[in-house]
Amino acid sequence: MNNVCSVHTHSTMCDGKDTLESMARAAFEAGVVSFGASGHSHTPMPEDEGQVLPVDMTAYRTEVLRLREAYAGRMDVLLGVELDNCTDVTAEGFDYWIGSAHRLKGPDGRFYTVDWNADLLVACQAEAFRGDAYAMAEAYYDAVGRMAARKPTILGHIDLITKFNEDGGFFDEGDPRYRAAALGALHAADPAETLLEINTGAMSRGYRSVPYPALFLLREWRAMGGGVILTADAHSARAIVHGYAQAAELARAAGFARSVLLTLSGREERPLDI
Ligand SMILES: [Zn+2]
Ligand SMILES: [Zn+2]
Repeated sequence: MNNVCSVHTHSTMCDGKDTLESMARAAFEAGVVSFGASGHSHTPMPEDEGQVLPVDMTAYRTEVLRLREAYAGRMDVLLGVELDNCTDVTAEGFDYWIGSAHRLKGPDGRFYTVDWNADLLVACQAEAFRGDAYAMAEAYYDAVGRMAARKPTILGHIDLITKFNEDGGFFDEGDPRYRAAALGALHAADPAETLLEINTGAMSRGYRSVPYPALFLLREWRAMGGGVILTADAHSARAIVHGYAQAAELARAAGFARSVLLTLSGREERPLDI
């Protein structure tokens, strides 16, 4: 598959199903220009134990750099990390980083994971927000906006809170209150520094039929002059470029003609015909 990269990937070193070596092989076989490992960064949350990289990422770095050598001249291999909004590490020394809010902070000061399962989100809405799903969404986008302001290389799945909302069961994504919160977070991002990802991860895992983010966010990002990158948020080798055709279609619908690839020589723009 020409004109694309796959730089949002997870392996057995965090919560993925396949080894980094298998992920890199799948990327190479798919014909991508570059492959990037973006393991979940460590957090102090006990429930993340075993699902995220350790604080000391030496073994992870060593393995990614070994793969870079193994594929030298055939495919770029990049060292990345997906930083969670509750992380206790930094992205210093990495080729790139994905800034992702997986949790919101409730009015009670507790952190709630928004993408683990629908029951947790129901409980969060009921317990922390007295049933007000819009207040819950506002708290989520507050976390996203803070992450965006840190100028990540890629802003991860900006509307992750819609993961279990395809049927509109939590909130109406057309509601002005919802849209104002989501757009507020988007406006905190710097289009000169940060790429917005069109992420198909929830499609390959059967949670959604369309990629993140919603079209209105992509259109606004385009108006802001930002660039987009296609990602699979792949947690298995078979998902390495899952749904890229749909992701490209969504980008075109928002008015983009090109997407951005991350390579060892920097950013590269390619046409959206894949
Ligand atoms: Zn994520
Ligand atoms: Zn991810």
